[in-house]
Amino acid sequence: MGKLAICPGSFDPITNGHLDIINRGAKVFEKVIVTVFNNQSKSPLFTVEERIHLLEESTKDMPNVTVDSSDHLLMDYAQEKKAHAVIRGLRAISDFEYEMQITSMNRKLNEDIETFFMMTNNQYSFLSSSMVKEVAKYNGNISGLVPKHVEEALKRKFNYK
Ligand code: ADP
Repeated sequence: MGKLAICPGSFDPITNGHLDIINRGAKVFEKVIVTVFNNQSKSPLFTVEERIHLLEESTKDMPNVTVDSSDHLLMDYAQEKKAHAVIRGLRAISDFEYEMQITSMNRKLNEDIETFFMMTNNQYSFLSSSMVKEVAKYNGNISGLVPKHVEEALKRKFNYK
């Protein structure tokens, strides 16, 4: 396709589900920018800098993927980067209504940037950052759900290490 896509999210922290979507996107688009948006309505566990660092470590073997952050509107940011598309992941039906709302708003803000939805690998259909944080908080086993260095970072955050 030879084009640039933005993969936006909170990534608090990145999970293997996010990584699956980033990987798929990187195969289709020439360049993918994974952008941490500082969503004020969520109270994050990791700072933006920490989230960027965890994302960079997770995507270091993907040559056409870079990591960035922004506190602007997604569509303004995408326009500024001259992006052609936005990539979002879809897990279960429960994601659908929320994603449709954002996408129709984004389309109203900028008709020229298309949103692409990608279905995650089935094994990640019920995986979310919040679920991972909840389990990690009680020192539960989250191996296989997040990259190893994210698992370590969660342990440090909750003082298990
Ligand atoms: P947001 O706050 O924008 O929802 P998230 O970091 O939770 O940010 O998610 C970013 C994107 O990744 C969203 O498109 C979301 O649907 C997708 N996503 C989150 N978890 C998974 C997963 N397990 N599999 C596939 N996509 C996912």
